[in-house]
Amino acid sequence: MTDLPAPLDLPRLKSLLGDVAPRLDVDALPVCDSTSSVLMARAEAGAPSGSVLVCERQTAGRGRRGRSWIAPAGGSLAFSLLWRFAPGSKPPMGLSLAVGVAVARALEKLGVTGAALKWPNDVLIGGRKLAGILVELAPLRNRSMAVVIGIGINLLLPEGFPDGPDMRACDLASVLSATPSRPEVLAALLRELVRALDAFQSGGFAALRGDWLARHAHQDRAVRLLDEHAPALEGVCRGVDEDGALLLETEAGVCRILAGEVSLRPSESARDADDPA
Ligand code: ATP
Repeated sequence: MTDLPAPLDLPRLKSLLGDVAPRLDVDALPVCDSTSSVLMARAEAGAPSGSVLVCERQTAGRGRRGRSWIAPAGGSLAFSLLWRFAPGSKPPMGLSLAVGVAVARALEKLGVTGAALKWPNDVLIGGRKLAGILVELAPLRNRSMAVVIGIGINLLLPEGFPDGPDMRACDLASVLSATPSRPEVLAALLRELVRALDAFQSGGFAALRGDWLARHAHQDRAVRLLDEHAPALEGVCRGVDEDGALLLETEAGVCRILAGEVSLRPSESARDADDPA
């Protein structure tokens, strides 16, 4: 796909952002490799908190651990937000889960029902991925912790978009009767991100944990944790703790798993039954 969508209507976006507009500085590019890579470079050069970069066509979107995020031009929204925490803030444990809560809340404001969160932070509808999230630490500045939050959301996937066991995608167009415009989707996401980041600044992930658990796709379900460097770990998902660590009940007891190098998948038996992911 080479056609670019119409440029994002920035004045319309600003009016939809309402009271959070003064806290955000949105820039739009027609094409870039990855909005997070470009914004990270801007963060290193001193860009302020609240800088947002959205692009019409992202050619090399990134997921966790070198995976790719595919963003068909015109059929998806890809953007990143730079956020600087108050000086002296603790390391942002659980932040990527907090971002998942913000995305789910924004989708619900747009009328989506059934948005579920897969640990650590995928947003699923009916077991298919609607949005991907990547949170990366930016360099410290004035002792202030900073992150670049990248979000990709499928609006209308083209015919023939890959579909298989490793890529189960869905789009907003298939879950809403009227698809909102790109400024509407971006404004809803940014408003909820600012709200969640404020809550996170004052209360950490604990402030959002209840909302995360209420949307947990695998609560009390059998799952497998895949680690490139260790055998898979099987167990039952018992939610997350106040640091965002997954609580996995195994034969040896409840293990606390940090996101790091691990990927969660439904166990084979759950996949055959009513697999949500
Ligand atoms: P993990 O469980 O470790 O987070 P993941 O497969 O969800 O694994 P991510 O890094 O979150 O990995 O996201 C990248 C993955 O998302 C890709 O490997 C691909 O399977 C899937 N993917 C890429 N583009 C899209 C898209 N537009 N819609 C849905 N899924 C996509």
